[in-house]
Amino acid sequence: CGIVGYVGPQSALDVVTAGLKRLEYRGYDSAGVAVLADGGLATAKRAGKLVNLEKELAARPLPTGATGIGHTRWATHGGPTDANAHPHLDNAGRVAVVHNGIIENFAELRAELAGRGHDLASETDTEVVAHLLAEEFSSCADLAEAMRLVCKRLLGAFTLVAVHADAPDVVVGARRDSPLVVGVGEGESFLASDVAAFIEHTRSAIELGQDQVVELRRDQVTVTGFDGAPTDVRTYHVDWDASA
Ligand code: GLU
Repeated sequence: CGIVGYVGPQSALDVVTAGLKRLEYRGYDSAGVAVLADGGLATAKRAGKLVNLEKELAARPLPTGATGIGHTRWATHGGPTDANAHPHLDNAGRVAVVHNGIIENFAELRAELAGRGHDLASETDTEVVAHLLAEEFSSCADLAEAMRLVCKRLLGAFTLVAVHADAPDVVVGARRDSPLVVGVGEGESFLASDVAAFIEHTRSAIELGQDQVVELRRDQVTVTGFDGAPTDVRTYHVDWDASA
């Protein structure tokens, strides 16, 4: 339902949780975050309101990191439980994915992954993406390329945002028939399903087009089609009132 991603000098967890709060008005049933720190990936997720996630983070703090993603979920596949909350991980716990929308061919992909020995931990359509990304990244070592390859296999409407512990300075996003906006800051970059999530940090934004993948670094935003072809990006100024 709501998606936020960040890479930059601030605490990614603080930026992401504040962004999720600004997206609360959209409604949701669970929430979660993932942060890359100290060479690893740390996550927290809870069914219910953001206050449940905040309590979990207070009881079990995550390490401070510069790269992170977050999600508020509106369940479509699998009930609103802790296990079904996003982010979803691969079996090695190196990739984290958040998703808005529906992966229509998830049942076939689940069966295919199970056949290759993957152990799926949730009932969601989303989790297959984490496992597929891990597989693709293990051969190409490029998270944006892995995302492009995975997206070509997905049917349905989706916004996907992912991080990988072996690509600690990168957040990637992809979209088809579901919104995703980049926020371009000074030495920091944001991704969100809605500009409301990052408007307190930057008003410089790029709307991702249909079937595009974005690679976000602190000082660089690279957009391509699912086919890898570079895309012209147009940065615009968000001028609506942040308090609206
Ligand atoms: N289909 C996914 C799920 O049920 C994503 C739902 C959403 O858009 O929040 O977990």
